[in-house]
Amino acid sequence: VRCEVLAVGTELLLGQIVDTNSSWIGEQLALAGIDSVRQVKVGDNQPRIVAALRTALEQADAVIVCGGLGPTQDDITREAIAEVMGVELRRDDAVAEVIAGMFATRGRRMPENNLRQADVPDGATVIEQRLGTAPGLICPVGPGGDKVVYAVPGVPYEMQEMVERAIIPDLQRRSGERSAIRSRVLRTWGESESGLAERLAPRLDALDVAGNPTLAFLASGIEGIKVRITARAATPEEAEALLAAEEAEVRAVLGELVFAVDEETMEASVGRQLVACGLTLAVAESVTGGLVQARIVSVAGASEFFVGGVVAYDSKVKFDLLRVPEGPVVSEAAATAMADGVRTLLGADVGVSTTGVAGPTEQDGEPPGTVWLGLALGDRVEAVQIRLPGDRDRVRQYAAISVLDRLRRVLLETPAG
Ligand code: ATP
Ligand code: MG
Repeated sequence: VRCEVLAVGTELLLGQIVDTNSSWIGEQLALAGIDSVRQVKVGDNQPRIVAALRTALEQADAVIVCGGLGPTQDDITREAIAEVMGVELRRDDAVAEVIAGMFATRGRRMPENNLRQADVPDGATVIEQRLGTAPGLICPVGPGGDKVVYAVPGVPYEMQEMVERAIIPDLQRRSGERSAIRSRVLRTWGESESGLAERLAPRLDALDVAGNPTLAFLASGIEGIKVRITARAATPEEAEALLAAEEAEVRAVLGELVFAVDEETMEASVGRQLVACGLTLAVAESVTGGLVQARIVSVAGASEFFVGGVVAYDSKVKFDLLRVPEGPVVSEAAATAMADGVRTLLGADVGVSTTGVAGPTEQDGEPPGTVWLGLALGDRVEAVQIRLPGDRDRVRQYAAISVLDRLRRVLLETPAG
């Protein structure tokens, strides 16, 4: 079964609300192994809803329409579906009674308009309303009724309840075969999208032939590039097994470029490694001005591995508090001394530091984007220079994740404690 999602609402087109319903439905379809072929948004306009439904039904076997089932005059999804089916709306007395009963139990007078929600296209089946007043609809369309339009309210929790209870099971019955789709995201840092594609080219070619699993790249700005593996199989267990096997293949190629899986962040990954090694961390920040520490503290349980840090922005703070030797502060010497200084000052096992030029103007003869990342761990006291693109904000954000990635890679070489 090929399924399309049609979100109805002028406010979606105007950017007043974000269409989270479509993405949620897309995820449910994928988890249920139903092909999700397209998602469309349309305003509260009957001719345009009708046109969108007709177009959808040319390609898809099923359309899930969300929104426009309310009681007011601009809620016209019912009318549009009846027009596409070529039938009239009829008032469903049982539904009308339920609506009237809902108002009665809340002790509220029912506006006459609310009974519009009991209007059902002839030939449609009602999905009983449990949370709101509007029922959902299952509407057979096309010759022999072999295609279907589902209608659900726009209110997310009402929509979700009906999709789970009635629509996914109905779609699975129609598709006959049960299949499952599972996906997993490997998060990478330190390689461009084209670089990743080049490394994975042989694997991508092999998968192209097989068609399952598939690999896709998703650039995620300052959070690196995600490699998403998607696998399809008859059962969830088999899909999971395919995912695990493919993850191993991809990791064999990408190695330590992969810093986390799915929702895990760089800072959470670093924290996990620090705990595994039994090490504590202190941070000295100049160019990042606290961004690194803010990221670290966002990890639940950060107190297990994070001691604290110093925002050493003015050179005097670097010299006096962190014992950085007097001289240029955007330098290897300054970065190493900051990392070493902060771990000594705060009594941590590991120190990391950032010092650089965020821009827009140069400093110490260095152009904007020049950043030194310092690290002190045991006898290892070192710094690397990176050159970052972008404006002041991007340079600072990139520098923050870069120093965390630097630490992550060094910890990979450190035996677990
Ligand atoms: P109601 O009976 O509440 O009028 P309805 O079926 O007419 O329901 P809408 O009026 O289209 O639905 O939407 C009701 C509310 O649900 C909107 O104000 C919005 O907050 C939310 N909503 C609607 N569509 C979406 C969507 N596609 N994604 C996320 N939220 C949505
Ligand atoms: Mg409405």
